[in-house]
Amino acid sequence: MNKVVIVTGGGRGIGAATSKLLAAKGYQVCVNYLANAQAAEAVVCEIRELGGSAFSFQADVSNESDVISLFDATEKAFGPVTHLVNNAGVLFSQMTFSEIDLERFNKVMMSNVTSCFLCSREFIRRIDPIATGSIVNVSSAASRSGAPFEYVDYATSKGAMDSLTKGLSLELAPKGVRVNSVRPGFIYTDMHADGGEPNRVERLSPQIPLQRGGTPDEVANAIVWLLSDEASYVTGSFIDLAGGR
Ligand code: NAP
Repeated sequence: MNKVVIVTGGGRGIGAATSKLLAAKGYQVCVNYLANAQAAEAVVCEIRELGGSAFSFQADVSNESDVISLFDATEKAFGPVTHLVNNAGVLFSQMTFSEIDLERFNKVMMSNVTSCFLCSREFIRRIDPIATGSIVNVSSAASRSGAPFEYVDYATSKGAMDSLTKGLSLELAPKGVRVNSVRPGFIYTDMHADGGEPNRVERLSPQIPLQRGGTPDEVANAIVWLLSDEASYVTGSFIDLAGGR
């Protein structure tokens, strides 16, 4: 089967590591990005230098028409999309629940949940009825912790993503299309700087049973396994990648 994957937010962090590993496994990869074209293009160049196939595509995955354009462009480049990684996500500065304003709350929900809904729906609407396919959603350990005093909005969005994963996996199971999730803990990416604390992973490492943060590659390994036929009997499942937390 020709394996064609869209990785949302594939230009940086966990998405970049996932895009590169998928390309190394023979997938043709659409590296989606929102604003950082340079980072996405660097991922594409690295993949091509190693003999893989990839292209980058700007789309705000919380926007319906952008999502349609993203799938149209990927189909045009590589053929029907067979796999999807809903990885794009945002996190804003640490604050208590009562300080969070509505604009921020809505932005987090749009970026983290609506994006997952729109991309998954587009994927399902277009998937070949006789082909099997697979979706992996990048949730967070925050869906279990609630992230009090930091980002309850973010944790809420990831909790919603977990419900989406469960419900959609049960709807699609009879068709043989699998939907799973990874829930990373503290991973070394730019995201913590966006949350206002670039050294957050180091600060919290002593509280992690494995005594360290995780790497994007460690998360990518789990995503790629869940997406693959090696995980053919796994659906509606969650892999916690949080060093034992
Ligand atoms: P990151 O390095 O900040 O990357 C986030 C990516 O999402 C960027 O590529 C960004 O695009 C993209 N993005 C954001 N909003 C988008 C939108 N509306 N449309 C398209 N792309 C969008 O963060 P990361 O740590 O790798 O995070 C990846 C996923 O892992 C997120 O869902 C995050 O919640 C989850 N996660 C991360 C951690 C952690 O500790 N790092 C822990 C648990 C879960 P640009 O490059 O164009 O800005």
